Amino acid sequence: MIPAHIRPESLEELLTALDTASYTIFAGGTDLLIRKRQWQGAERRFEEPLAFINHLEELKEVVITQDHFLIGALATQEDIASNEALPDYLREPYRQMATLAIRNIATVGGNLINAASVGDSLPVLLALDARVILKSVAGERSLTLDELIVDKYRTAIKKNEVLTQVIIPRRHFSGYYYKKIGQRKASILSKLSVILLYRKNKNLEDLRIAVGAVNSRPLRLKEAERTLLETGCIDAYLKALLESFHSEDDKRSTREYRETVTLDIIRKQLEQLFS
Ligand SMILES: Cc1cc2nc3c(=O)[nH]c(=O)nc-3n(C[C@H](O)[C@H](O)[C@H](O)COP(=O)(O)OP(=O)(O)OC[C@H]3O[C@@H](n4cnc5c(N)ncnc54)[C@H](O)[C@@H]3O)c2cc1C
Repeated sequence: MIPAHIRPESLEELLTALDTASYTIFAGGTDLLIRKRQWQGAERRFEEPLAFINHLEELKEVVITQDHFLIGALATQEDIASNEALPDYLREPYRQMATLAIRNIATVGGNLINAASVGDSLPVLLALDARVILKSVAGERSLTLDELIVDKYRTAIKKNEVLTQVIIPRRHFSGYYYKKIGQRKASILSKLSVILLYRKNKNLEDLRIAVGAVNSRPLRLKEAERTLLETGCIDAYLKALLESFHSEDDKRSTREYRETVTLDIIRKQLEQLFS
């Protein structure tokens, strides 16, 4: 049986509904249907009515402007993975998520608001200084990922707000490296992931490194990145990174594995870059 729900015809109607009552926003449902499962085969139980939104075309647009990539919150993972107008460094983490069937329904916004530590879009969006737009009847807010993601499964979004768009500044990178490590190659959640973006002409001019699935939130050390760029001192950067880890053993991996492999991967990439 379909639980109590609304299916607003527009964003405006959705915002009005959210302002007058409490709903659980249901986009692709790929996280919600897992989270609300009580046991295999049982009907999902939701505490409040659902607001189905993934028919809202106005939130699916992907627009490329001179300065930004504007990604609608309801763009699917596959919309990003298969969009040849977008740069590979942005498409690659989406390409490696889940399976095609899931990617065809799972949304960009859902991955962010779910805010799992293993959310594979979080590191690349953090590295790219992406911002999110949260709308309500009262207006809109623009938050960085650091501001949005408070902790594992916790974000700063309010009950009457909808994530409508992800805004990514367009920057030129001459190269990138992305590695997702899981128990197997396809359809698996990350033990850890690393994204490294750089612009190198004669010298390294820009360098960004973000780590996923090690801490409860995606990790990026902007200050240490800047120092690394200025000094080329890889050991100091890795020391700062190690000191920022607060991983734990869980069913996917051990703390030691996550930390050692992450540092190893980054060291190798940095040694190549600075050689
Ligand atoms: C088999 C399988 C494999 C998977 N593999 C991966 C993987 O490899 N990597 C990975 O990162 N994830 C993976 N996932 C998780 C999942 O696909 C993603 O997190 C997905 O992006 C969530 O999007 P959704 O639209 O399905 O979100 P939903 O389940 O609809 O919603 C998730 C949360 O976000 C809220 N929400 C959604 N959209 C909005 C919005 N616009 N505004 C406000 N709140 C909103 C919902 O209320 C809910 O709390 C996998 C899931 C499955 C089932």
